[in-house]
Amino acid sequence: MKRLWFVFKSLLTFIAVMAVISLFWTVAYFITEAIYTRFAWQPQQLVRQIITSVSGFFLFGVSMSILSPFLRKRERVLWKNLMDAIHRIAKGDFQINLRADWGKGNHPFTELVEGLNDMAANLRAMEEMRQEFISNVSHEIGSPLTSIRGFARALKNEHLPYEQRMHYLDIIEAECVRLSKLSDNLLRLAMLDSDRYPFQPISYRLDSQLQSLILHCEPQWMEKEIEITVMLEKVVITADEDLLSQVWLNLLHNAIKFTPKGGAITIQLQQQDNYAIVIVADNGPGIAEEDQPRIFERFYKADKSRNRAVGGSGLGLAIVDKIVKIHQGKISVCSRLGEGTEFHVQLPIQCRD
Ligand code: ADP
Repeated sequence: MKRLWFVFKSLLTFIAVMAVISLFWTVAYFITEAIYTRFAWQPQQLVRQIITSVSGFFLFGVSMSILSPFLRKRERVLWKNLMDAIHRIAKGDFQINLRADWGKGNHPFTELVEGLNDMAANLRAMEEMRQEFISNVSHEIGSPLTSIRGFARALKNEHLPYEQRMHYLDIIEAECVRLSKLSDNLLRLAMLDSDRYPFQPISYRLDSQLQSLILHCEPQWMEKEIEITVMLEKVVITADEDLLSQVWLNLLHNAIKFTPKGGAITIQLQQQDNYAIVIVADNGPGIAEEDQPRIFERFYKADKSRNRAVGGSGLGLAIVDKIVKIHQGKISVCSRLGEGTEFHVQLPIQCRD
């Protein structure tokens, strides 16, 4: 049907062009005839034909150049709007929404306008993300700095008792650690985003890596008297060992951080077909259902008041998510408020470079 319509349209165009050409040649014929009669000149048949043809071409060209600005008015308006839009984008104004009404189908102008609208929408979204990012970073830097400044000022008081002085210094130290962790995490994310990160997969025992990281966190879980259950199958994986150790550390630190004193954490590793499945589960406060889809976003903290008490900048899971994606894996969360949280990480055993 489409093909038939195309043939029909082409035929119509051909007939229209032939009709216009015939019209101009007829006009040229009558004008030249009038000139021969006026000057009583009777040239040969061949010369007549050449003069009529050249005059026909001339008339056609002149008429088209006069008419074309009117015939192409829509195109001219479109080009002007496109150029205006491009200049506005170049100046950082991404509020662009041009109308794409060049009929149905894949008209090149419709595609051009839609492409420009999409580009502006993407740039607008990126700009919003950038501004949100800057405001989040400023906020995360601002609060520890305010606290450091306050306690430093308080320390100037010479009559402060020794214990209180030490307490204030501990707070300043903790805030400095928080700032330096924030800067480390921001740098790590920037590096992972840049695609310049040297991704170096090697084959190694994932169970051994998990085992040693759990031992590495022993002081933290011992201090909170957390009961740790470990069920690790022997799994050999090809992946970037350093990057994955960051994933396990972030998940373990969160589980320990959010689990109350005397709680329980379970770490499991299984192999299912060509995938390694790691589950980190705790019986902490859980995450509300509406927060679960957002916890992998940068700076997102599910429970802001609780987070202030336990610390953290909301970047840990964003880093985890990024590293898992670099390994073509998946991460998901399963949680119920008041019951606990389970993170499932699925990684291909043989990750593609
Ligand atoms: P943070 O540095 O704040 O811990 P994350 O990116 O690691 O940032 O986590 C994002 C948010 O997800 C946390 O602020 C917290 O609200 C929630 N969260 C992460 N892990 C857990 C967990 N095991 N139990 C309860 N909430 C969690």
